Amino acid sequence: MTASEQQLKSLDDRTIKCIRCGFCLDVCPTFRLTGQETRSPRGRIYLVRSWRENTIAFDSDLVAALDTCLGCRACETACPSGVEYGTILEMARTHIEEAGLRPASQSFARSQLLATLTSPSRLSASLKAANLVSRFTCGKMPAFAAKMLSGKSGVSLPLPSGDAQIHELPECSPSTTAKRYRVGFLAGCVMRVMFGDVNAATVRVLQANGCEVITPASSGCCGALHLHTGQHADGLEKARALIVSFEPLLDSLDAIVINSAGCGSTLKEYGALLANDSAYAERAAKFSAKVRDVHEWLVGVGITPPESKPVDRVVTYHDACHLAHGQKIRTQPRVLLQSIPGIRLVEMDESDTCCGSAGTYNLTEPDMARRLLEKKLANLKATGSEIVATGNPGCLAWIRQGAEEAGMKLRICHPVELLDEAYRSV
Ligand code: SF4
Ligand code: SF4
Repeated sequence: MTASEQQLKSLDDRTIKCIRCGFCLDVCPTFRLTGQETRSPRGRIYLVRSWRENTIAFDSDLVAALDTCLGCRACETACPSGVEYGTILEMARTHIEEAGLRPASQSFARSQLLATLTSPSRLSASLKAANLVSRFTCGKMPAFAAKMLSGKSGVSLPLPSGDAQIHELPECSPSTTAKRYRVGFLAGCVMRVMFGDVNAATVRVLQANGCEVITPASSGCCGALHLHTGQHADGLEKARALIVSFEPLLDSLDAIVINSAGCGSTLKEYGALLANDSAYAERAAKFSAKVRDVHEWLVGVGITPPESKPVDRVVTYHDACHLAHGQKIRTQPRVLLQSIPGIRLVEMDESDTCCGSAGTYNLTEPDMARRLLEKKLANLKATGSEIVATGNPGCLAWIRQGAEEAGMKLRICHPVELLDEAYRSV
């Protein structure tokens, strides 16, 4: 059996587990917005299965059904049958890209977008250019670029904005309290450019919790965005390179810590993704076994309580999809926030419903992304919070942009930034 036949067999094994009960429909944001079966998990799985059974073609309608999926995996949380929807989606999207089922201009635009987002030097240069172009286009992407990305005419896409510097970290940051652990830290690609302050805060928090933090300078992109968008071969190449960059250190590390939900979810899947690669299977499994989301790690080892004065702040928490649904991490970020003296955590409605960011979704499916963002902002507003904390760069940037456009006085930050401030205010 060839590798691609193996992939299709494994896709069939997964779709057949769907018993079409429909328990996933109510939690699916795209089904809730449209009411259409082809925009639901059950409908998408049925379409993929029908294609495999040769009863329908893999045509533009099927591509659209999969493109409009957020990949949020809320359906996995709801599914009583253990359907691995995220894997089904990634396999079907891989077929779209490998079989060339998109217009060439759209494929080109999407590959350029990925190449930019996952290269700190390209992202930094692009943000500088975007900041310039913004002055002439009122913050909007030129119409031809928006059409190429989304495949639709008349679409208005915001230009990304933000810090355009690359923020490097020291290779070794010693513990600032009695040393208990030695951990690796993955600085990421988007995080390294747009959220250098979050990375710096994460390292300080780890240091304050007895960790020596090692950030290998050679570590690059984890491949999550490639894998989520059907660029499977490129995603696996990135995974192999990252494993190699941590390998000389691996035995000396107690954990590999990550502060980005989307990346962490993929790092934990390396073992499964490379299980059929004889050169990497064992190494990938060993790597994945050490990966911990930062909230998971800190709560697991016991957070050193900050000795700061109470801050008297009302905070709400947005569950990033790849933490809540991808990694089943829900309580740890809340425990971390509640460890900060004076913070009052107020839950919002639908805290674990996708905000619409979803990797590159807000650029490729802007209408649906906007509607989800508006709902998220309304739910945030109803809590009366002055701060929203969330553990993923896409959510941070998208909610921040929405709040700014809506004129809301709301601070959007990563939970570790608040803990870092508490440690530093003593
Ligand atoms: S809940 Fe699971 S088994 Fe039921 S329809 Fe959805 S994916 Fe299929
Ligand atoms: S991943 Fe999210 S958007 Fe896609 S089918 Fe599942 S619940 Fe719906």
